[in-house]
Amino acid sequence: MDIIRTKSDLREIVNKALGKGQTIGLIPTMGFLHEGHLSLMRRARRENDLVIVSVFVNPTQFGPNEDLEAYPRDSEKDITLMRSVNADIAFFPDADDIYPYGYATYVQVEGAMAQTLCGRSRPIHFRGVTTIVSKLFHLAKPHRAYFGQKDAQQVAIIAKMIQDLDFDIELVVCPIIREADGLAMSSRNRYLTSRERSKAKVLSQALHSAQAKIKNGERSAAAVIQNITERIASVKPAEIDYVSVMDAVTLNDVQALRGKILIAVAVIIGRTRLIDNVQFEV
Ligand code: AMP
Repeated sequence: MDIIRTKSDLREIVNKALGKGQTIGLIPTMGFLHEGHLSLMRRARRENDLVIVSVFVNPTQFGPNEDLEAYPRDSEKDITLMRSVNADIAFFPDADDIYPYGYATYVQVEGAMAQTLCGRSRPIHFRGVTTIVSKLFHLAKPHRAYFGQKDAQQVAIIAKMIQDLDFDIELVVCPIIREADGLAMSSRNRYLTSRERSKAKVLSQALHSAQAKIKNGERSAAAVIQNITERIASVKPAEIDYVSVMDAVTLNDVQALRGKILIAVAVIIGRTRLIDNVQFEV
């Protein structure tokens, strides 16, 4: 595996691979890798000649009071894990190389899709995500890009950006990888104290019990939201940011459950903001 630190070195490798007719799979990450990230890499390994993993804690997607500085980092361990799944290229760019002095161009999906859910409490977040992902698409020139369903709103927004900006890239969405008790794996889980960690399973439990009720005939979004809200609110110290039932493609709220449905939650446990979701066809 090659460890690459500059845009120009990455471009050289990418152009060589394309010259040989190789296919490229890209996995954008912020590092502190876990099984969720590795599941994306394994899938990319099966489907492409060249697997590029980027590790970049992207400053433009963090608000002024968010955890940019505190975000966990462990590049040594990340490299070991990337090697274990046979990634070809580990791309660790510097922020100065990605956003040089005077940088001024942003990519933004307009409208409700980026303003709802996490966009409400994190108003600049998705602008940062679509900007860095566009830049990585131009640098890595992937045939396929791998993203986790864990970040369902991110997936919907990137799908929209790919469509609207005519990126010739296949978006591959991979299922959520969970801990044994159901908690969705996340680099931010390491912020949880052991007491908070044991409470955090309420997110997936509430989502899965709602899904079971829907299987048994529940069709009212309001009833589902109330049920999940009550279940999570019964756990202290859990503070609900949102519980939302939407059309999985447009992210528009729905009243009656029909078609492809996404149920998403964001909950602050102690000082850690956790997100989770389930997606299914009714
Ligand atoms: P991050 O490093 O948190 O930006 O995540 C990088 C990619 O890994 C994103 O596409 C995430 O959706 C995906 N990812 C993170 N956690 C999980 C998980 N538990 N299961 C599946 N994919 C995940």
